[in-house]
Amino acid sequence: MTNSTTPPNAWDALPIRDELRGQSPYGAPQLDVPVRLNTNENPYPLPDALVDRIAERVREAARDLNRYPDRDAVELRTELARYLTRTAGHEVTAAHVWAANGSNEVLQQLLQTFGGPGRTAIGFEPSYSMHALIARGTGTGWISGPRNEDFTIDVEAARKAIAEHRPEVVFITSPNNPTGTAVDAGTVLALYDAAQAARPSMVVVDEAYGEFSHHPSLLPLIEGRPHLVLSRTMSKAFGAAGLRLGYLAAAPAVVDAVQLVRLPYHLSSVTQATALAALEHTDTLLGYVAQLKSERDRLVDGLRELGFAVTDSDANFVQFGRFADSRTAWQQILDRGVLVRDNGVPGWLRVSAGTPAENDAFLDAVRELKKEHDA
Ligand SMILES: *Cc1c(COP(=O)(O)O)cnc(C)c1O
Repeated sequence: MTNSTTPPNAWDALPIRDELRGQSPYGAPQLDVPVRLNTNENPYPLPDALVDRIAERVREAARDLNRYPDRDAVELRTELARYLTRTAGHEVTAAHVWAANGSNEVLQQLLQTFGGPGRTAIGFEPSYSMHALIARGTGTGWISGPRNEDFTIDVEAARKAIAEHRPEVVFITSPNNPTGTAVDAGTVLALYDAAQAARPSMVVVDEAYGEFSHHPSLLPLIEGRPHLVLSRTMSKAFGAAGLRLGYLAAAPAVVDAVQLVRLPYHLSSVTQATALAALEHTDTLLGYVAQLKSERDRLVDGLRELGFAVTDSDANFVQFGRFADSRTAWQQILDRGVLVRDNGVPGWLRVSAGTPAENDAFLDAVRELKKEHDA
């Protein structure tokens, strides 16, 4: 959110870039309510053993803070590659992996490298709003591609849009945010082929919620596809949104290319030490993922029992509706102490899977809503 003392768009008096004029910054409301289920965070604080290990590793790193960090983050990339190899069904090495401050920075580096002025990127909307915002910030033109009624990607329409606009970058989000929809490998391959025929373009698969999916990771698809990039994050499944650590896996040439735009020493020693500590505890963290997946399924069932429409979800959140006025429904749920997300998809809201108690509070709130509505 903007600083509350700043009137909206005060910056319009400044000589800012034309494409930023009249725009607003990314801002999920950060409201102080008892149950916050609006930003897809993991609701569980890190376990004590991991907190202790982070303190230990950061303490070691602190001794060397007079020095710049490892610019290439080799140890961290090695451990991320090990994690992917173990959990995502395809063997990769540090040469295939690049890390930055959240996957948002990874995506920004990709658009700085492959997008930019005079170039375009396409995404299939509704999807993650940051793709369009990062495009704007990097001077990349944005094309909004279509989806089917059920929020799956309309492959034929998508192929047509790629052939017509010939974008330099294609975003595919799987599982998609805010709908929860997984994309199958066949669809990714069809769009990859269309993008290669058109240009060739880079295809970025944003798998921020990959660990929560019923389907295996799309990572194996990078094999033999030099223009396919998989993006991941520690913000969701690892319960470490505050850490700011995202990463990509792709052919080593892609990793080399993003070196052209990354700021030197972009990943602090403290961040690298913290992420390495978290990677020592992946089994515990993936245990929470299993719990959240079953809570996600409980939310889907609970909402359907109450008569809500629910989009099938492969993520740690659920899209539900349909509301004549989603803004009013959002406020009515908030009035009952539960903050969900209005992503601007007409008729729909999104709720993140929280702890069992938080999810009960949410289900109680929407049950009341339904009763009042039916009364
Ligand atoms: C949350 C989210 C991200 C994560 O961004 P970070 O910068 O890694 O916190 C990326 N992509 C999608 C689709 C998301 O929902």
